[in-house]
Amino acid sequence: MKTLLIKVDPENPSAEALAPAAEILKRGGTVVFPTETVYGLGGDATHSESAEKIYAAKGRPSDNPLIIHISKPEEAEPYAETNKLWHRLARHFMPGPLTVILPKKDTIPLTVTGGLDSVAVRCPAHPVALKLIELTGLPVAAPSANISGKPSPTCAAHVIEDLDGRVDCIIDGGECTFGVESTIVKITGEDSLILLRPGAVTYDALCCVCSDVTVSDTVMNKLKENERPLCPGSKYRHYAPEKPLTLVGGSEEARISYFAERQKEGAVIICYDEQAEHLESHSVITVGKKDDLEAQGHRLFAALRECDSLEGRCVYANLPSTDGFGLALYNRLIRAAAHTVVYPDQL
Ligand code: AMP
Ligand code: MG
Repeated sequence: MKTLLIKVDPENPSAEALAPAAEILKRGGTVVFPTETVYGLGGDATHSESAEKIYAAKGRPSDNPLIIHISKPEEAEPYAETNKLWHRLARHFMPGPLTVILPKKDTIPLTVTGGLDSVAVRCPAHPVALKLIELTGLPVAAPSANISGKPSPTCAAHVIEDLDGRVDCIIDGGECTFGVESTIVKITGEDSLILLRPGAVTYDALCCVCSDVTVSDTVMNKLKENERPLCPGSKYRHYAPEKPLTLVGGSEEARISYFAERQKEGAVIICYDEQAEHLESHSVITVGKKDDLEAQGHRLFAALRECDSLEGRCVYANLPSTDGFGLALYNRLIRAAAHTVVYPDQL
C-alpha cells in the first residue's frame, strides 16, 4: 500500500491540509495522527472493518481494545453511558491525556472493544487531532501507532519506521508533548474509580476530583499466572527494546558506579544528564535532568528505540520513583524491562 505523507503546522493545522486525511477516515481507511501523548493509528470507530485494518497494520491481538477519540466530551453520549463522575472528570481534565472506560452503547462494534461491553473514551488536547476528528464528524478509534510490542511513537520518524506502507496516511505534526500514553481510569461507582494505566494525569490529580481512587495491581506488579487483567493491554509484552533491559535502583552513587562498570563491559546506558558526566560519552543516551520528569517522559520512548541502534548487548536504565508523573515512567520501564531490577547497594 502507498502511504500518503502529510506535513502540517502542529499548532495551527489548516483544514485544507487535513482534508485528504479526513476523507480517508470517512471512507474506512487508516490515518496516523499526532496527539499530546503519542501518535495514534486512527480509523472510524463505528465501523468494524476499520478496526480490523488497525489491528492488522499494528499486528495487534484483536482482544486488546482500542480507545475512541472525540473532539468534545459531549460527543461521548451516542457511544457510551456517561454519569456524574464522567462529567466531573471531563470538566477537570478534558481535552487532555485522560482516557475513561464507560459502558458501551451499540453504536460501537465489539471489534473495537476487543469483545468487551465497555468502551475507552478520550478527548485529546492536540490541535491536529482535534481538527481531524472535527472534520470527519466521527469518533476515531486509535491505539498507539507502533508495531505491537514496540515502544510507542513520539515523532513521525518512529511512525514511518513502523508503519510506512501499512496505513493509508501519516500526518507529521512534530514531536508529542508528554511522550507517554494517556492515563486510563475505569469508573467503578458514583465516586470511585480504578487507575489502570498511569499517565500525565497523575494519581494525586485524580484524587482531587474523586474521593476513592484505587491503583490497579498491574500498574506496578507482574500479572499472576492465569490472571485476567481489567486492562487487556497489560498482559502483553510492551515498550521493549530488542536488547534486554535492566533497571537500576538504590543510591545515586551506587547507580553511577554500576553504570560505569556495565559500560566498560559494552552495555548501553540510558541515564540522567548529571549521571552522564561521570560516564564515557559513547553508548550513553540521556533523557534529561534527574528531577525533570516531564523531559524524561518526552524522551523515554525515543531512548528505548535509540538503544537498539547503538552497539552493545544489553541496556541499563534508572528505576524511576513512583511519585507524580514518575509512576507513568515506572510503569512503562518496568514492563520494558520485564520486571528485571538490580540494587547495586545490596549486591
Ligand atoms: P493504546 O491505545 O495502544 O495505548 O492501548 C489502549 C489501552 O487501553 C490498552 O492497554 C487497552 O487494553 C486499554 N483499553 C481500551 N479499551 C478498554 C476497555 N474497554 N477496558 C479496559 N481497557 C481498555
Ligand atoms: Mg499501545
